[in-house]
Amino acid sequence: MLNLILFGPPGAGKGTQSEQLIDAYNLKHISTGDLLRAERKAGTELGIKANEYIAKGELVPDEVVVGMVRNFMKEHSSSKGFIFDGFPRTTPQAEALDNLLSEFGAKIDIVLGLEVIVDELVKRLLLRGETSGRADDQSEETIRNRFKEYQTKTLPLMDYYTKKNSYVGVNGMGEIDHIQSSLREEINKVL
Ligand code: AMP
Repeated sequence: MLNLILFGPPGAGKGTQSEQLIDAYNLKHISTGDLLRAERKAGTELGIKANEYIAKGELVPDEVVVGMVRNFMKEHSSSKGFIFDGFPRTTPQAEALDNLLSEFGAKIDIVLGLEVIVDELVKRLLLRGETSGRADDQSEETIRNRFKEYQTKTLPLMDYYTKKNSYVGVNGMGEIDHIQSSLREEINKVL
């Protein structure tokens, strides 16, 4: 199995880069943001509850997100591996993921951190908000809150994975194809 995490702040390009990586390496994409939005669209109780957090730019409680990831992984247990996008976002989520993967006899092989300066991130998110229909991309206040959550709860994971020797930072500015090549270069080193 090959399991990788695309790490980085909102707007870093995790979704865009994942799309190309899943084809290249035949992996299953797990985006917790996409899964939560699908729940909301389907009008499930989980989706309605989660939307209260999403709309404010706050993180959805760990147990909700971990439960969703666990179900997804069990449903796709024959997959060659997973790309985790937007997950884990907290230390308890990272620990839960380690436990889940160990049930598969697997581990996180590499954490690729997309590094982009804040001014560029805000610009990208507001631009995406014009077409994505995502309310949380349209309000600068919500965007700022998402960054605050990232700084306080998610950024410590960089240290978590650096200690495990799995974190690699990649320049997330510039051409999409160029960034994709940099990511593949790093992945190929651990294959
Ligand atoms: P994203 O599509 O990854 O930008 O996620 C959109 C929103 O969904 C976030 O701002 C959070 O409110 C929620 N969300 C997505 N993934 C997670 C996660 N791993 N933990 C907690 N909340 C999440």
